[in-house]
Amino acid sequence: MLNIKDLHAGVDGKEILQGVDLCINPGEMHAVMGRNGSGKSTLSNVITGKEGYNISKGDILYKNESIIEWPPEKRALAGIFMSFQYPVSMPGVNNTYFLKAALNAKLKNAGEKELDAAGFLKLVKEKLTELNMDTSYLQRAVNEGFSGGEKKRNEILQMLTLEPEIAIMDETDSGLDIDALKIIANGINKYRNSERSFLVITHYQRLLRYLEPDVVHVLIDGKVVRSGGKELALELEEKGYHWLES
Ligand code: ADP
Ligand code: MG
Repeated sequence: MLNIKDLHAGVDGKEILQGVDLCINPGEMHAVMGRNGSGKSTLSNVITGKEGYNISKGDILYKNESIIEWPPEKRALAGIFMSFQYPVSMPGVNNTYFLKAALNAKLKNAGEKELDAAGFLKLVKEKLTELNMDTSYLQRAVNEGFSGGEKKRNEILQMLTLEPEIAIMDETDSGLDIDALKIIANGINKYRNSERSFLVITHYQRLLRYLEPDVVHVLIDGKVVRSGGKELALELEEKGYHWLES
C-alpha cells in the first residue's frame, strides 16, 4: 500500500527526516512513536503532500506508484487520508457542506454516482452515531468552537465518511479524555479490514492499547531506529526512549 524508501526530507533548508524506510501492506496498522520533535508530523505532512517540504532523497510509493510529485488533492482523491495533529477551523464553512463536497469529489473522481442531500444525510448520521456525536455538529462551521476532543472526533468522522485506503493519524489521541479515546479507537477498529491500512502516529502508548498495531516503529531524530511488534510500545512506556539512542 505504502512504501517509503530512504526518505530524506526537510523544510527551510533543515533536514528533518534522515533516511526513513517504511513498508505498509494492505490491512496492516503501523504505529510510529517518538518524542516531540523527532519528525513524526513531518513524515505525515510529506506523505500527504503539504507544501513547503523538500524531499532531497528517496521516494514514497503508493500502490507501487511514486507520489512525491502529486499535489495533495490528487493523493486525497487516490485514497490517502490524514487526521491532523492540529485540525484547523474553517469559519463560515458548514460541516455538512464540507463533508458532502469532499465525499462527492471522491465519488466523482472514481466515476461513481454523487450523493444528494438526503442520501448524504442518511450516510453521515450512521457515522455520527458510531462516534457518539449528535447531529448539531453538522450545522456548525468546520471545527469552529469545537473542543480539542470534538475536533479529533470530527477528523474520524471525516475518515469514516471518505473511506480512505490508507489513513494517517497524527496524534489523534492527544487531548482526549479516556471515554473519547475509547470511542475513537472503536471507530478506527471498526473501520479496519484486510484491505485498509493505517499509520498511527503517537507519543503515548495509551491509544495503542486499544488499537493493537501490527508493527511499531520508533523514530528518533528523523530515523527509524527500531521496529517491532506491539510489545515494543509497552517497552517504550516502561523505559522511555533513551535506551534506543546511539
Ligand atoms: P514531531 O511531530 O515528532 O513532534 P515535527 O515533525 O513536528 O516533530 O518536527 C521535527 C523537527 O523539525 C522539530 O525540531 C521542529 O522544530 C522542526 N521543524 C518542523 N517544522 C519546521 C519548520 N517549518 N521550520 C523549521 N523547523 C521545523
Ligand atoms: Mg507532531
